[in-house]
Amino acid sequence: MRADVSPEERQSVEQALAAGRLTVVDPATGYHRSMYAACPRDGSAAAVWRIARGAGGAVIELTMHCSQCGHEFKAAREAIFLR
Ligand SMILES: [Zn+2]
Repeated sequence: MRADVSPEERQSVEQALAAGRLTVVDPATGYHRSMYAACPRDGSAAAVWRIARGAGGAVIELTMHCSQCGHEFKAAREAIFLR
């Protein structure tokens, strides 16, 4: 699994979280891409499990859940990738 996050991807994630959204629409395809982070235990793509919202509804904290091993962890927003 890739570990790098492109600058464009990071910017899209930042904008979506600031707007309180957990998906990013790909302008080329119109497809909604969801946010994932790599599980620190096994590297699997873990989906968003819980969020905390701040002022204006912005998403300020993301807790991920790995469906492979059940691990829950808080993801740094720099570590969020889309697919
Ligand atoms: Zn895991």
